[in-house]
Amino acid sequence: MNHLSGELVRRYARGDTEIPADQLWALETHLETCADCRKLLAENSDNLTELLAGVWANVQPDTEPAEHRRLSTWFATNALPWLGMTVLVAILATVLDMFAQVGPSLVLLLAPIAPVLGVAAAGARGLDPAYELISSTPRAGLYLVLRRTVSVLVVVIPVLVLAGLPGNVSPALWLLPCLAFSVGTLVLGGWLGMGRAAGGLAAVWALSVVGPSLVRDALPVVLQPVSLPFWGVVVVVGAVVLAVRADAYARLG
Ligand SMILES: [Zn+2]
Repeated sequence: MNHLSGELVRRYARGDTEIPADQLWALETHLETCADCRKLLAENSDNLTELLAGVWANVQPDTEPAEHRRLSTWFATNALPWLGMTVLVAILATVLDMFAQVGPSLVLLLAPIAPVLGVAAAGARGLDPAYELISSTPRAGLYLVLRRTVSVLVVVIPVLVLAGLPGNVSPALWLLPCLAFSVGTLVLGGWLGMGRAAGGLAAVWALSVVGPSLVRDALPVVLQPVSLPFWGVVVVVGAVVLAVRADAYARLG
């Protein structure tokens, strides 16, 4: 195994923002699996020394298999109940769609906010020992949260595709809104905290779109093809804000 160069570790320990993203990714992935390089990092960062020693002792007991260590950065254990709930709601929406036969599809109406609770749990402070890592390592926070967000979407999106099959709900209509709400949760979560951001977005969507659409029995304009460019812009702007504010995710609470 190639180890990290001392120069790179020193730059990382200083929170150097000039390290290219791919290099940073490789560095953090290596740190997850290599005790020697974590030791090197700890030696190079006074204030992190104690924290990291404690965190890694919790996250990676030596007896734990390597696959489990990797999983801990892809899945927050506290996101799993939310994912389970999301699947249940999707099944319920599918069943209701099949019986209702008319009006806007519940699957389509709920799809945009389906991932937000899982995304929030992925980045929220909880019982997750990796939270200590999120809050203490420069820039690591956003990458960890992004990876976990991707894991949530990898589960939620296929569930929604399947849920939409009986009612012929095209994923093209909800995929961009879904991504926009996920990115939006991360962006707002940087200011408000993940739980409040997700709850707020879900409530606003439910009150301003889901409720009125069911009452009027019509598909809202925001879920029609004409609105797709709008959602595209939201995703892009959100991604730019995330990139600019990456440091805020080092102290996510
Ligand atoms: Zn190493």
